[in-house]
Amino acid sequence: MRKFKTESKKLLDLMINSIYTNKEIFLRELISNASDAVDKLNFKSLTDESMHVDQADLAIRVSFDRDARTITVSDNGIGMTAEELERNLGTIAHSGSEEFKTENAESQGDALDIIGQFGVGFYSAFMVAKRVRVVSRAFGEDEAHVWESDGLEGYTIEPGERAEHGTDVILTLRENVPGDAGEEGENYDRYLSEWGLKDLIRRYSNYVRYPIQMMVTKSRQKPKPEDAGDDYKPEYEDYEELETINSMTPIWKKRREDVEDADYNEFYKSTFHDFEDPARTISFHAEGALEYDALLFIPGRAPFDLYSKDYEKGLALYSSNVMIMEKCADLLPDYYNFVRGVVDSADVSLNISRETLQQNRQLRAIARRIEKRVTSDLEDMRDNDREAYEKFFENFGRGLKYGIYASYGAKATELADLLLFWSAKEQKMITLAEYAKAMPEGQKAIYFAAGDDRDRLSKMPVVTGVLARGFDVLLCTQDVDEFTFQSMREYVARDMPKVYEDDAAREAAEKAVADGAEPELEDRHLELKNVATGDLDLASEDEKKEAEEASKEHADLFSAMKEALGDHVQKVAVSSRLVSADDAPACITTEGPLSLEMEKVLKRGPEGDIEGMPTAQRVLELNAKSPVFAKLAAAQEAGDADKVKLYAGLLYDQALLVEGILPEDPVAFAKNVCELM
Ligand code: ADP
Ligand code: MG
Repeated sequence: MRKFKTESKKLLDLMINSIYTNKEIFLRELISNASDAVDKLNFKSLTDESMHVDQADLAIRVSFDRDARTITVSDNGIGMTAEELERNLGTIAHSGSEEFKTENAESQGDALDIIGQFGVGFYSAFMVAKRVRVVSRAFGEDEAHVWESDGLEGYTIEPGERAEHGTDVILTLRENVPGDAGEEGENYDRYLSEWGLKDLIRRYSNYVRYPIQMMVTKSRQKPKPEDAGDDYKPEYEDYEELETINSMTPIWKKRREDVEDADYNEFYKSTFHDFEDPARTISFHAEGALEYDALLFIPGRAPFDLYSKDYEKGLALYSSNVMIMEKCADLLPDYYNFVRGVVDSADVSLNISRETLQQNRQLRAIARRIEKRVTSDLEDMRDNDREAYEKFFENFGRGLKYGIYASYGAKATELADLLLFWSAKEQKMITLAEYAKAMPEGQKAIYFAAGDDRDRLSKMPVVTGVLARGFDVLLCTQDVDEFTFQSMREYVARDMPKVYEDDAAREAAEKAVADGAEPELEDRHLELKNVATGDLDLASEDEKKEAEEASKEHADLFSAMKEALGDHVQKVAVSSRLVSADDAPACITTEGPLSLEMEKVLKRGPEGDIEGMPTAQRVLELNAKSPVFAKLAAAQEAGDADKVKLYAGLLYDQALLVEGILPEDPVAFAKNVCELM
């Protein structure tokens, strides 16, 4: 017996137990080797006229024998001589395929698509087999040889028989290991079935470019005998047929212009188990230092579990048409978790486990490029097919917003322009850039209102107040909206008409434009402001003065109301938002970072009922022009403390109601209303 070379035993052990995380990949490795062998023969025949190889005959065959517990992978490829068996299978980490590639580097062109490169894949057979027998006959040789090993100490090579050039790899499977307490057993028998093997072939080797054939058992109806009576029941019989299991064409390798949309859609639906066509198909081929093909899809609808914990993002990762990983999560950022597709790179090694993949520099480079491509495709859809984009956004927009929030605003430059919000003025979905472009001169912030119902929001006094001043308000109805805005803090609107601080500069610029110069543009930093929080600073000088005077004049009234409302409000003040007699008599706003809406969202969350949860700092704003205010002032004047108290409570409760928050004591509220009537 010949011993494995160079510490092979240790290496073998290491390989079998740690390189591969998954035993079932042995079949993928053997099929890849068979495909390489066929590829080499094919390649040689293309470059050597004297060789006669019929392309149509080139194939890989997989079979099994349940009684003998064997699986055989055969090919009619280039085969191996005794020396090659020794060199390629007797030396771990020696790759004959890699050698072949280098030798033929100049002439190979597109003809060669060799998978092997590390010289370890073959040994994965020992993860499931206790013996491996390789019968091989090199092309152009008369003799065949048999290599055999138990994968422990060494191997033997002896003369043997094979009718034709090519190789048979015969695995004798290990015995099943029964599972016991805590330990999972190992069931090798599952590979000894037509179904089990077919499944593995389709999963890992579906796009290997030569047919992978298997003898399969089928059933058919026997012909009806001539003399069959009326009560004849059809009879069935089993028969065997050679079937090609793999689909062979890796659609992602093709140029976009060579593929019909219908074929992309079909591939998408069957591969990713969707019944709807994808909204977009992105196909690209990277060349240069790192070569790969990518075929990506943006689904037409959100999978039902997209927002659940069980949802797994990721793209299928292939290396030269052979699947390495079904869902490689590192290829996609979380906010693009809805993207499905395939990445295939010959540069990514087959023999890597999950752990090593994560630190893979190449993979990170691919991921960055994919992210950019998805972003630019979404931008294209946003600008050129708004209807489709709105549908996309309905499906996946929440994830994009969450991406900004989860990165504490760091991803805003990438994602903010992909967001859509409902414009109260335009009555449709618009982007932040569109909002900025439509702003009247003098508007310094983007205004939004948050709540769960668009209709209710549009009627809120704080919203109508801002609209009345000619400023649009974005009506935000998803819980994540306000958190997203808060993490962004501002939006930078590009290419806005320049604002001139002093008149001289403005006049000079206007003159220049009149003389034919391009108008000057600038980037403008716009704060994102909730119309219901803080000081919006919208009032004119006159309005401010009026409010100040009213505050002074009615200081007693405000302190009496504040006293009546106690801790429910931070203060009671004259409103700078509600300024005309037709406006609502009062509204609730907040001071500080937490808005009423955010308070509601947090309360719904898992920590919602924990004591000491921060609450919004409420301010009861009163409309000094409203008739109700006059009544209040009169009551205060008359020294009717009970009436002031009653009105304060009512105004507070009804302002809350408008915000969609129930009065703390609905019974008392109802009673008070009745009393008034
Ligand atoms: P790799 O495929 O990465 O080169 P393997 O350990 O899978 O490494 O295989 C080692 C070498 O054995 C291959 O490079 C190839 O030269 C040879 N080999 C394996 N299987 C076959 C086969 N079916 N026909 C011909 N050569 C083979
Ligand atoms: Mg290999």
